[in-house]
Amino acid sequence: MSKDDPTKLDTPHLVTDRLRDWGWANDRNDELRELAGETQAPARVIAQHRGEYRLMTPWGQATGVAPGRMKYRASGRREMPAVGDWVLIEPAADGPATVVEILPRRTQFVRRRAGTERGEQVIAANIDVACIVSSLNQELSARRIERYLVAARESGATPVIVLNKSDLCADIDAAVDPIRDVASGAPIEVVSSVSGDGLDGLRKWLVPRQTVVLIGSSGVGKSTLINTLAGGELLATQEIRAFDDKGRHTTTHREIFRLPDGVLLLDTPGMRELGLVEAEEGLDETFDDVAELASSCRFRDCGHLNEPGCAVRAAIDAGTLSAERWASYDRLQKEAAYGVRRVDVSAEVAEKKKWKQIHKDLRKMPKKG
Ligand code: GDP
Ligand code: ZN
Repeated sequence: MSKDDPTKLDTPHLVTDRLRDWGWANDRNDELRELAGETQAPARVIAQHRGEYRLMTPWGQATGVAPGRMKYRASGRREMPAVGDWVLIEPAADGPATVVEILPRRTQFVRRRAGTERGEQVIAANIDVACIVSSLNQELSARRIERYLVAARESGATPVIVLNKSDLCADIDAAVDPIRDVASGAPIEVVSSVSGDGLDGLRKWLVPRQTVVLIGSSGVGKSTLINTLAGGELLATQEIRAFDDKGRHTTTHREIFRLPDGVLLLDTPGMRELGLVEAEEGLDETFDDVAELASSCRFRDCGHLNEPGCAVRAAIDAGTLSAERWASYDRLQKEAAYGVRRVDVSAEVAEKKKWKQIHKDLRKMPKKG
């Protein structure tokens, strides 16, 4: 039986070198044997465009669609395929393949959908490394880096801070120091995608067959970086950006590019905000200093406002914790817990107390008749 015949599917044979080149790891073989039906094949979602997916299958690229029943079953967007997902498909002789199942994600990068309070969006799945790209100019902000670090760590990927446009920066040390203070152990690579400075350092984190996502505000140089890393070959072999019918770059397009050296790179163009959805672990790792302080307050439920024995307040007063870093933690934590619109918990608590009292009083009232 030929392993290239899509009508005769022998599960282990379906894991071709092509799939490995696109990130398939052998620890998924058992999953595949267990979950795949006889006529199903594994594939990776390498791009998403509106309702359609571009897939890398054992036989090459194909288009895929998710059937209505999958959308129906999905209780949220997390359960719909995202770029980077490994899926099971039902290949079709002609027309798009049908995506029937998402294989368990090893990592997932989730953000709050822009402009929504609670809606969420999986930006990328099965990412190994998250490069947080910022530029060494006015854009650089420790607070923004903290936010990205929390999201990256929450995703399960390894974060790397990439500070681009070093060619435009007169005093690199002065710019990098405040970032080092908040990096909480994440490596920092200072690069220029124009001059090529520092790229060797960055390449340490870019391993063939691993998937690397570039996150950061638009304009920081993510696409320039991809092009430079690809040595200009990418544009020749793959279209870097889709164009809409007016010839403009479309900005909602996400796609995994395979660089000539085998690294899988995913750009996230046009990302304007990175709202946190769920971030407990990401916060704990990124703000390990704050988390440790908070755990040594006298009261377990200390609100770190003006409670006696508050280790956080004491550290701020002593100057060992900066008030800005504390405010940043507090803000991100509230955002992850309550969504964008700030919920004033104190008002809610007061309201509950009031009603408790009213109910108590009601029960004490003599029954009529
Ligand atoms: P993206 O929105 O993050 O993909 O950013 P782009 O790659 O489109 O870059 C935005 C602008 O910054 C472009 O004009 C680039 O030429 C410029 N740029 C990118 N990287 C560098 C760099 O390392 N140095 C300098 N001087 N300019 C850069
Ligand atoms: Zn406290």
